[in-house]
Formats: sequence, C-alpha cells, structure tokens
Amino acid sequence: MTSQKIILIVEDNEINRAMLRGILESEYKVLEAPNGLEALKVLNDQKDNVSLILLDIVMPVMDGYTFLSILKNDPSISSIPVIVATQNDNESDEVAALSHGATDFVAKPYRPQIILHRVASIISLRENAAMINQFRYDRLTSLYSKEFFYRRVREELQAHPDREYDMLCSNIENFKLINDILGVPAGDQLLISVAEMIQEKIGERGICGRLSADQFACLIHRPQAYPQEYFIHANSEINTLANMQNVVVKWGVYVIRDKQVSVEQMCDRALLAVRRIKGQYNNYVAAYDDTLRNKLLREQAITDSMEAALKQRQFVIYLQPKFQIKDDQLAGAEALVRWNHPQWGFQSPAEFIPLFERNGFITKLDQYVWEQSCAELHRWDQAGYPQISVSVNVSRADIYNSDLIDFLTRILKKYELQPSRLHLEITESAYTENPGQIIATVEQLRTLGFVIEMDDFGSGYSSLNMLNQLPLDILKLDMKFIQNETAKPTNQGILRFIMSLARWMNLSVVAEGVETREQLERLRETGCDYVQGYYFARPMPCEEFEKLLQKQYEQASKKSLENSLPLPDQQKPMLLLADGDVRYCEEMRGVLSQQYLVQCVSDGQSVLQYLDMYANQIRLIILSLDLKDPEGIDVLKTLQHRIEVRDIPIIATGYWDDQWEEAALDIGADDFAGKPHTPMSLWKRVQRTQSLSVLRQQEQILREEAYRDYLTGLLNRRGLSAVCQALRQDDAPLALFRFDLDNLKKVNDQLGRDQGDQRIRQFSHLLRSHFRQSDILARLDQDEFIVVMKKTARKEAVVRKGEALGQAFVEAGWNQDVPLTVSAGIAMWDLSETLDEVLARADSALKCAKVGCQSRCRLWEEANVWGIRSEIVKK
Ligand code: C2E
Ligand code: CA
Ligand code: CA
Repeated sequence: MTSQKIILIVEDNEINRAMLRGILESEYKVLEAPNGLEALKVLNDQKDNVSLILLDIVMPVMDGYTFLSILKNDPSISSIPVIVATQNDNESDEVAALSHGATDFVAKPYRPQIILHRVASIISLRENAAMINQFRYDRLTSLYSKEFFYRRVREELQAHPDREYDMLCSNIENFKLINDILGVPAGDQLLISVAEMIQEKIGERGICGRLSADQFACLIHRPQAYPQEYFIHANSEINTLANMQNVVVKWGVYVIRDKQVSVEQMCDRALLAVRRIKGQYNNYVAAYDDTLRNKLLREQAITDSMEAALKQRQFVIYLQPKFQIKDDQLAGAEALVRWNHPQWGFQSPAEFIPLFERNGFITKLDQYVWEQSCAELHRWDQAGYPQISVSVNVSRADIYNSDLIDFLTRILKKYELQPSRLHLEITESAYTENPGQIIATVEQLRTLGFVIEMDDFGSGYSSLNMLNQLPLDILKLDMKFIQNETAKPTNQGILRFIMSLARWMNLSVVAEGVETREQLERLRETGCDYVQGYYFARPMPCEEFEKLLQKQYEQASKKSLENSLPLPDQQKPMLLLADGDVRYCEEMRGVLSQQYLVQCVSDGQSVLQYLDMYANQIRLIILSLDLKDPEGIDVLKTLQHRIEVRDIPIIATGYWDDQWEEAALDIGADDFAGKPHTPMSLWKRVQRTQSLSVLRQQEQILREEAYRDYLTGLLNRRGLSAVCQALRQDDAPLALFRFDLDNLKKVNDQLGRDQGDQRIRQFSHLLRSHFRQSDILARLDQDEFIVVMKKTARKEAVVRKGEALGQAFVEAGWNQDVPLTVSAGIAMWDLSETLDEVLARADSALKCAKVGCQSRCRLWEEANVWGIRSEIVKK
C-alpha cells in the first residue's frame, strides 16, 4: 500500500488555505495550521510523515521566520523541505526566506500549475537525497558507511597533500560472544555507544565511519602521541554509555606516510595492529609497524611458494608416538606436518597452518598428509608390524570440502586399510560455527568406521554443552589444560570430572603435551587412557618412528617365542665357540650341536663383532684364553662391561694352569675348562653352567619379587632394609616418614577389601607423585607406609610436606563414603642409628599425631615422648 504524501499548509488566511488545499488535495494529503505555533504542534505528532511544508510569512502568534528558525534547529524535523510564499516581485522576501533555511519560494497569488510543479520536484529531490544518505550513512550508528568513508578519506587526502594524517581503527573484543550471550539488541546498543563516543571525541575534527559489524575507522590529523590512558578512558566511557562492564575496545593506528597506499589498505593495516594486541591485558592501542609489515611480506612469500613446495615434496610428515598409559605400550601416532624449505629450513606448522587455513590451501596440504600417512601404514603392514593407527589433523575447511568423504575412502582402498586405522582429529573450535553441517559430515565419516577425536578439548568455551550431540570416539585434552590442571597441587576436580564424563559417554581420553613424570602420574591417577608428549617422545621422522615400532614388534615376538616351547629344530639357541684351533672346534661341535646352533669364530675381534649383532640370541659363550687379536683375557674383560652380554654365561678354556683358572673366574667367567678335554667333559660343563644361569635368573626374579609389595609395587619391609643398608653418608641428613591410613579397617568392613586395596593403591600413587624419584618408598603392613627422603635438613619443610600429603589425600575425594584420613610421624635421621631405631622414633611421633587432635602430622622431638604419655593418660 503506497500511502499518499502529506503536505502541511501554514497560513493564517482561511481563503488562501482553502485555495491551496484545493490545488493539492487531488494528489496529496493536506494538513493545515493557522500559525507557526500550531504548525509545530502538528509536526510534533506527524514529523516522520510530513513530506513538505508550505509556509506563509506574515502570521499572528508566530510568524514564518520564527517558525523556520525553530524548525531548522530541531534535528528531528530540520530536514523537512519548506516552500515559502512571498509577495510577488518582492526580492528581499525571497532572500530572507532562503537565508532562514527555506528550500524554495512561490509568489502570491498562487498559481496551481506552478505550485504543483514545485511541490512535486522538491519532494522527489528530497527522496533522492534520503536515498543517497542511506547509502552514505550507516543506519545503526549514523556514521559514514564503509564505501562513503573511503571516498571521503580519499577526497580529504587529495585536497590537503601537505597535512599529516593517521588512520585509526577499532575493534570490539569478543563482539560475537557479546551478541550471542546478551542478544542482538544489546550488541546494537554497544555499537551505538562506540559511535557516540567516537563522535564526541572526534566529531568535526576528523572523518569517521563504520567498516563492518564491530569495526570503526577514523581519519584524524596526526596528534603528538597516542597515550594508553586516553584509550582506557574512552573504553570506560563506552562501558558507561552502553551500560556494560567488561567490554574492551582496542585501537590500531596506521601512520600515513605514503598517501598512495589505498584507504582500504590503510584500514587493513590499522586493524592488523589491533589484532596484535588482542587479549593483552591493559594494552588498548598499538601502531602498525615494520614487524607487522614483515609479517605480511612473509605471509606473501609463503603464499607465493606453497604450491611449488607441495609439488616438490618439501612438506614432510613427522610422527609423534602415543602410548597406552596402563602398560606403556606404543598405541599409535599423530601425523604432524613440517615444511622443509630449501632456503628457510624447517618451518613450524604454527606459522604456516593458520595462513593456509585462511587462504584455503590447507585442504590440499591435508590431503597430502593423509595420503602419506596411509602410505606409511601400508608399508608397516607389509613389514608385518603390529597394526597401530595414525591420527591426522582435519581443519574446518576440510570438512566443508564436498570431496572429503570420497577422497578418504579412495585412499583407504588404495592402501588396503580399514577406516579405523585413520583417526581424524577435529579441533573443538571447528564446531562453534555452523555446527549443524559439521556434525552431519562427521557423523557420516564415523558411520563409515573412521575414529573421530576431538582435538584441543578444554581450550574453548562451547564444548561441554554440545558434547553429547557430537559424533565422537575420543577426547583429546588440550595441552594447556593438562599443564594448568596438573600444576595445581592437589585438587584435580575438573580432570576427574572430565574423565568420569568421558566414561559415561563411552569415550576414550588422550592427554597431549605431557612433559613431566608428575603430569603422567596425575593423569594415571585420574584414569586417563593414552598419553602423548615430550616426556615420552617429540614428533620424529617416519624412519625413526619405524624403529620404535620394530622394537615393539621384537618384544612381542620374543614373548611369543618364549611361550612357544619346545623350540622347533631350526630355532635352537645359539652357542658361540671362540677358539683359534680349528680341529678342536670341529671336534666339540659334534656334541654341542645336538642342542645348540654352534657358531665358531677364531679371533677376539670376531667375538666382539658377533656379539654386536646377535647378543640377544646367544645363550652361551665358550671362550679360549689362548685367543689372539685381542687376547682372550682382554675379550673376557671387555664382555664384563657390556650390559647386553652381562647375563650370557661364559666358559673360559685354556691349557691347564692354576693361574689361568683363577684369573678367568676373577674376571667373571662362570667356569673354566682346562685343555685338553674330551667333548663329553665340555658338554657336562655346558649343562651345568646353563642350569646355574637359569637358577640365577630365577633367583633374580624372586629377589625382586621378595623385595616388592605386590599390591602397590613399592618396597616391602625386606626391600626397605636392603635399600637402607646401601645408604651412604652423603645421602644424609634424611627424614623418615611413617604414614598410617586411619580408618582403613572401616573401609574394608563396610565397603569390602577391594575398596580398601583401591585406597591403598591410590595412596601409593599419591606418594609417588609427591616425592622425588630418588626417595625411598615402602609399604610395611596393611596400612603403613614409609618414605625416606634423602638430603633433607629443614624440619619445617618436612612437616609441611607431611601435612600437604594428608591434605591431598583428603581432597582427592576418594573417600566420600567412609572418610579416610592419614596420620604421619616423622623422624630425622643422620644414619648413626639403625633402621629399626629410627622407625621406632617415627612410630612414637605417629602415635602422638594420632592422639593429638591439632595436627595429623608430627615430628619426633625429645619432648614428644612425654607429651604423648600425658595425652594418652588424659584419654
Ligand atoms: P595440535 O594438533 O594440537 O598438535 C600438537 C602440537 O603440540 C604439535 O605442535 C606438537 O609438536 C606439540 N607437542 C606435542 N607434545 C608436546 C609437549 O609435550 N609440549 C609442548 N609444548 N608441545 C607439544 P606442532 O607440530 O608445532 O603443530 C602445531 C599445530 O599445527 C597442531 O596442533 C595442529 O593444529 C597444526 N598442524 C600440524 N600439522 C598439521 C596438519 O598436517 N594439518 C593440519 N590441519 N594442522 C596441522
Ligand atoms: Ca592434533
Ligand atoms: Ca591438540
């Protein structure tokens, strides 16, 4: 419905009014007022609708000039065009009318055609102007629109080549978030406030415009300086105006030295300067400078060379191993790209990936990385290695690529791989924009069998609330998150919460960026499944990774070899027979080869070489001391120092001589067989040595087992005494802690022994993570633990350590159902007493800690002994 335009006639003479109405009524809607004052009242109601005013000058109450002055000073009505009626031929009237702001005039008496014509042309002029304004001005803020701002700046710079100007651009931090959380009207209000502030500060002294949603720009005359305080002040003003609290508006300055640079580029550069201080606390303004310029140039150089680099295979894949936390087994790898540039050297992906994500090249590069990863997997399969998986990174742009699914299925087919061998890491932040489309595609991939990992989990703000809508198999905890959470001394509430969430959603958890043993222990305690990080290995070239894989393979096959007795014939154990006498060798081989694969060598050098290659397959060495190059006795000495040979039994041989025999046994040979001897007598010695060596190995294992507590892997009482016997004076002073879990019996009774054992294990993990690797940790009885700290003299620090541990145990939250606490008694030890004596002192401090209610941790002092007696008596 096109409504009729409205014209307001202001005229005291009724006849004239009627006449004008008669002329206009056919085409317009007409309002009337008898004087200026009445006209203002009409406008008050209808100001947005009146298209034109026809105004008489001489009127009672308020004349035409007065009315015109008021109208022009009121911005809400000042733009309504006014045609003034003047007396015919009175030029001074016409001049006065125009100087008061009238748009045009008509002479009385009124001539209908002239009036209609003038009215129509002025209304149309005004509408055009309004349209132009709409184009020139930003509707929301009334600042110049981007295009018009650019034009105005160009004109200004051309008009004043001698003046110095700067370009200032601003950006509101997290504007999208403000819009999302507070709603669009609040966002709009904020933008209006920024514009108001800019108008107030710069106004007529510069040219201001709005470039995009939350970006504003101003061209100003160069001031002396740009003090931070000024911008901080402006920022708080905006917060007041918008009635908000934490809005941060930052500014970038581009100093215009070269006026040939395009205005768009000037703004881009000022905005780049803003981006550089994004998120920096208390830094509100920054200037564009050479480092930024260099960054741009570098980005340009990267962009120019990326395509060729891909063709020339300058991009290479590094693999970072991932381990299963429960048994330290290699579980897979993440493929991380490196750029080996012929001039620039190795480039970190942190530099080029973000650029490739912006310019779209990432899709090509990622497809290359995926294909190379598959090729690698295929090669390993061919070599018969265990079938591990490789995780590859998938950028957001990759998911929008319509070819994604086809491409992935194509390469899997080409390299004969199951989809589950390729894990797709999709960063958490990819889901924040347009989640619907991303989810749909990822769901399809998952249905096809790909394993989906959410990368960088915990780095953004939007993860938890949408977690259950996402097609996922694995959560990969962000490195920063791990480092922050594990740095906190005790409370791992959030980590624990995430692990239980993951369990509940059937997801595995990988922690990346694990750099220390402490972090590993914390993650182990909270139940994390896989770990990746510098603590284990840095990303490495594929060949190096293959060696790891090979090692794992050998271990696995060794195990299966050991389990598969009896050995098939060709897999007889190897025996190395080293003797310069060929006839002797042949003679002996006859008997020995019934049970061994006998390898004969005739000089010292060959013995060492042979061992280099086959150390792990040789079961026994028969070594002649008459050997040359080097001498047999020297070879024997060398072998004692080589770890990989240390467990292989050695029988030395030589022409009978008491001294030879003694020397050989002294150096470490297991037996000596004097020559000449029959093959049968040598055979007997071989048998004896073998069974001795088996016994020795068993004893080693038994001893190891006998010294360890089965439940926690800590030392037991026997182990503790053995290790303490080996303590030396330079380990002192020492502190011996005796910990006791109060109430463990109650846990056993009420929740069952399993739960009790669980608490004991948890406490032992806690001990491991709180003490140094060189400290001695043991479990004595059911619920008693001992820690011996070396080189520790400061009593306060020791007590604090004991208290912190008790605190950590309570706060770990394992003990909700039956409250469990821990008490500690500590004794300082200078090694002048026996272990039993110091244990006894720690025990009396422990008793004291248990009865004294103030602290659950007590240091043994002479006075305690009396204190505790009296406290026991009191009870
Ligand atoms: P990301 O996916 O989060 O990869 C983990 C990054 O952490 C890698 O950095 C890795 O070398 C590093 N890292 C691993 N363990 C530790 C540790 O213990 N401590 C510390 N401080 N860092 C550790 P890198 O290789 O520089 O890669 C950086 C980022 O570049 C990656 O972060 C990923 O977002 C991206 N990226 C790397 N390769 C590719 C790729 O082929 N495609 C895509 N789209 N992105 C890639
Ligand atoms: Ca990743
Ligand atoms: Ca990551």
